[in-house]
Amino acid sequence: MAGDFIADAVVADNEAGTYSSRVQTRFPPEPNGYLHIGHAKAITADFGIAERFGGICKLRFDDTNPDTEDVEYVDSIIADIRWLGFEPESVCYASDYFGKLYEWAEDLIQAGLAYVDEQDGETISAQRGGFGKPGIESPYRDRPIAESLDLFRRMRAGEFADGSKVLRAKVDMQSENMEMRDPVMYRIRRGHHHRTGDTWCIYPMYDWAHGQSDAIEGVTHSMCTLEFVNHRPLYDWFLEHLELPFEKPKQLEFARLELTHTVTSKRRLLGLVRDGIVSGWDDPRMPTLVALRRRGYPAAAIRAFCTHIGINKTNSRHSIEELESFVRAELNRVAQRRMAVLKPLQLVIDNWPAGEVEYFEVTNNPENAADGTRSVPFSGTLYIEQDDFAEVPPPKFFRLSIGREVRLRGAYLVRATHVDKDDAGNIIAVHATYDPATKGGDAPDGRKVKSTMHWVSAAHAIDAQAALYDRLFAAEVPGERTGEPLDDLNPASLELLTGCKVEPALTETAPGEVVQFERLGYFAKDNRPVDGNPPLFHRTVGLRDEWAKLQKK
Ligand code: ATP
Ligand code: MG
Repeated sequence: MAGDFIADAVVADNEAGTYSSRVQTRFPPEPNGYLHIGHAKAITADFGIAERFGGICKLRFDDTNPDTEDVEYVDSIIADIRWLGFEPESVCYASDYFGKLYEWAEDLIQAGLAYVDEQDGETISAQRGGFGKPGIESPYRDRPIAESLDLFRRMRAGEFADGSKVLRAKVDMQSENMEMRDPVMYRIRRGHHHRTGDTWCIYPMYDWAHGQSDAIEGVTHSMCTLEFVNHRPLYDWFLEHLELPFEKPKQLEFARLELTHTVTSKRRLLGLVRDGIVSGWDDPRMPTLVALRRRGYPAAAIRAFCTHIGINKTNSRHSIEELESFVRAELNRVAQRRMAVLKPLQLVIDNWPAGEVEYFEVTNNPENAADGTRSVPFSGTLYIEQDDFAEVPPPKFFRLSIGREVRLRGAYLVRATHVDKDDAGNIIAVHATYDPATKGGDAPDGRKVKSTMHWVSAAHAIDAQAALYDRLFAAEVPGERTGEPLDDLNPASLELLTGCKVEPALTETAPGEVVQFERLGYFAKDNRPVDGNPPLFHRTVGLRDEWAKLQKK
């Protein structure tokens, strides 16, 4: 099973009795944006490992940066995790530990392991050096403990300007690991925090908050993505020098999930929203969970995809088509079938008895008999797709044309006779005759037709809109050519069709529900409050399995 190297570590710890067989994980988002498909992988890993070993997983907000964080994000993250199908054992906040972190920082100062540096950020960063480039020790590095302690207390009391001083860990300025070259633990920053308000004017850095929060909560296995491998020695160093309430947690790193045609950096996604390139975090072209939900991706499909790709140690980019194949498989199982005409063309059946309406019982989902049937009205004036008729059929066109007979799905065989045109020569209606002996769609004499088409009865159809989506980024790896993903934006990623005609049963489709429009794809009814416009359906995915096709290449 996928995810084994983390599971192996847990098993080894259980066998060695390291954590008395306790397994505790956490999912630690920073509330500075909406969760995206990459986070779904981390969530599946964090909650999955806890579940598998009978442990617990908490949701912890890594809210140490007042400038970029907001309750809007906190609320959305909680909702998205629940929607994905996971329930945190509890919801915690790193900001709840600001007091304890401060105390521990004083302990490190007292132990001679941290000091207040008064140089500016640029100097500190220049002195850090680089690979093969020695670090330069700060002139404040060996200042007396009492002096650092006094300054640190006054930093907290608000005596100094933003950015004028920092607290640094005294680790090793010559370490080959840059993270160990006296990292900054605290900075002065007067920013209103979404939970602690103005209580603090110093805020801990990620490295001086994450492992500590893990330790305070009793986390045993702290999973994060590969870019934190270099931080692990520092994670351990801090914890080794503190009095911990539980056994020391262990950081384990796995590969980020990246998808083709997709960006998954919150900063980039925020940019798309701010620049109005998309309509919001829940624009169905976004890779955020709110957007995927609105577009009709079932949570079960996302979970199945994450389980399938597993937890691995090398970064790789998965094909978006592979994710879509999980979406399609799930929707094929659960989605009700409906008929919808996106670009309508009138079809008049001239030999239909005037005013008569016939109702056909149509199967809702051939994959699930329990979904039953519905009544679909049929009459003498229908809508079919413009694309399903050609006055002059091109080669290999087997749909409707003058003189040709086709099947109207579940109803009758019809043969086109002539067209009506407006003054400009545009076809406004196609005329046909039906064969009453072919009720249900089959001819008693066994004659075959080459095509079956969907339709809706004009008098019964309801107006609707459909949004068809293409990739937001045309390139497989957005930004690969120029370094700027926006250079790869697909200018035609959204096509909105406003004049659609759909069967009346779709009025009963619930907001957010996904149905299959026969022959066209899976469509989700918009989950936003209705706004007086005809209902909007988002195309979730098409019907064709592009992933299978790609694999055959
Ligand atoms: P971003 O770079 O998009 O801002 P982040 O890593 O800063 O993402 P966090 O909110 O800190 O986002 O992430 C919470 C958790 O989700 C972390 O453990 C992080 O490693 C994990 N995570 C974030 N992005 C991905 C991804 N693409 N694939 C797998 N896990 C991810
Ligand atoms: Mg982060």
